Amino acid sequence: MASQSVTLHDKSFGIYLPETEILNDIKVVADRINEDYASLNPLFVAVLNGSFMFASDLLKEVSMPCEISFMKVSSYENTTSTGQVTELVGLKENVAGRHLVILEDIVDTGNTVVKLLAMLKERNPASIEIATLLQKPECLKHELSVKYIGREIPNDFVVGYGLDYNGLGRNLRDIYKVL
Ligand code: 5GP
Ligand code: MG
Ligand code: MG
Repeated sequence: MASQSVTLHDKSFGIYLPETEILNDIKVVADRINEDYASLNPLFVAVLNGSFMFASDLLKEVSMPCEISFMKVSSYENTTSTGQVTELVGLKENVAGRHLVILEDIVDTGNTVVKLLAMLKERNPASIEIATLLQKPECLKHELSVKYIGREIPNDFVVGYGLDYNGLGRNLRDIYKVL
């Protein structure tokens, strides 16, 4: 059973999405990917650190032969909040002609994903789609079509299942929201 609340640093968080619900959402996304990519051998690109649990559980439900690789980016918000994204761990794979599926923990403003799409498009993949566990539609600042969304959530700060609050909380198997 999930703990009802956790404290990380100075904040308390209450249970929001138990692991069973997260895994149900992931199964729905995986079924769609299995249908859409049945004959395409996609290359999944998981965005570290936040997406590591999502990537792990999603890939266990993916049924066609596929590859996975990892990118680590860091965002620096400038005053106009367009957000600048720097690649810290890059992709070694040649992505030209490949069908890419970016795996994200959460799409908030969309800044990170917009920058990632631009970076990856320069390398001439055959296609790129985004799969995110969570999306906060109220916060989206870009014309962005996210094809695979596990669940839409309101604008609350959440932790657990890969998502952190100042480094803590990534190991929690359930998702909590700030109280
Ligand atoms: P965006 O670039 O879309 O504004 O933000 C994406 C990143 O911000 C996510 O990958 C995540 O690292 C962080 N983020 C956005 N909302 C939340 C949240 O509710 N909880 C946590 N832990 N991180 C968040
Ligand atoms: Mg992320
Ligand atoms: Mg974080």
